Amino acid sequence: MAAVALCLLLGATPALALGIQDVVNQVSQTQYQTYQVTVQNMGMGYYGGQAYDQGYRDRLGAAGPGSLGNQEARLYLQDQFDDMGLNVSVHGTYSNVVGELLGAKTPDRIYIICGHYDHVAGSVSSGRPGGDDNASGTAAVLEAARILSQYQFESTIRFIGFNCEDKSPGLLGSNDYVNNVVKPNHQDIAGVINLDMILRPGWDSQPSHVKDLNLASTDTDWATTFVTAADTYVPSLLVNSSFVDYGGSDHEPFEDAGFPALLAIENTAYEIWHYGANAYYHGPNDATDLAAGGTYDYAFATDVVRATVATMAGEAVLTPEPATLALLAAGGAMMLLRRRRSK
Ligand SMILES: [Zn+2]
Repeated sequence: MAAVALCLLLGATPALALGIQDVVNQVSQTQYQTYQVTVQNMGMGYYGGQAYDQGYRDRLGAAGPGSLGNQEARLYLQDQFDDMGLNVSVHGTYSNVVGELLGAKTPDRIYIICGHYDHVAGSVSSGRPGGDDNASGTAAVLEAARILSQYQFESTIRFIGFNCEDKSPGLLGSNDYVNNVVKPNHQDIAGVINLDMILRPGWDSQPSHVKDLNLASTDTDWATTFVTAADTYVPSLLVNSSFVDYGGSDHEPFEDAGFPALLAIENTAYEIWHYGANAYYHGPNDATDLAAGGTYDYAFATDVVRATVATMAGEAVLTPEPATLALLAAGGAMMLLRRRRSK
């Protein structure tokens, strides 16, 4: 309060005026698209070099190091999180990649933004690049991390790329994380947003189908929190407010353990059951650069990232930094509000 009064006296904008909308507005469609295409191309040796070039994009990996594409994707996630200044670790049997932004006030209260970086098995001939499932969600985790890591929050936010979501019987990485990291350490998971398939809203074979985001959750309060944040800060995003509870992705192990969790996805269970998944689901044309699959809606997916950022900025509680307040007290410049984290 004292800092605010001083700012008003000095004619500057108070630090507390830094709002959630300012954070949300930093989300970039161009950067999201770059992340998505890069993750989609893992296994081509574009990032890790020739050692990772296997001629196809299969990112499957079970126990052990996983395929070359899977390893390259993991390396990319680690490097990106590291560049953002997050605390990076690779966890467990399935090599989940975790980037952590430690909370300034209640670090034991933990929020999670996650998506799986693996994809179903493929081969040179069948090549399953997984551009929507789930380079789309992995890129969303990266863009949310890029933005949120530039600010400080009261609670901790973890960004996680889970592995082996698509490895039968499914959800191997997230189950391992909940059972061997979260539960034994009695961690307080305050809310999970899992992003899995967000680039094909509406229905490919049903052009008239509404282009909305669907939420699957057993926790109506948590899902409503997301909808409210989206309505407030991302009015261009249409979110279906009838929540259908179905598992089938990495939010499920958290739900089963009693934590608030949701899946953000392009279609509802009803749509899948009645019309089938999108035409390119788990197929060779689930990619940006193939004519048949070139139907990605990047504007929509970027709005999903914005809604995710808005939800977490509110729930983890965006805080002015102590250093910023000190500067303000001394009449410092507001342009220093945004922190650039060192590597
Ligand atoms: Zn998936």
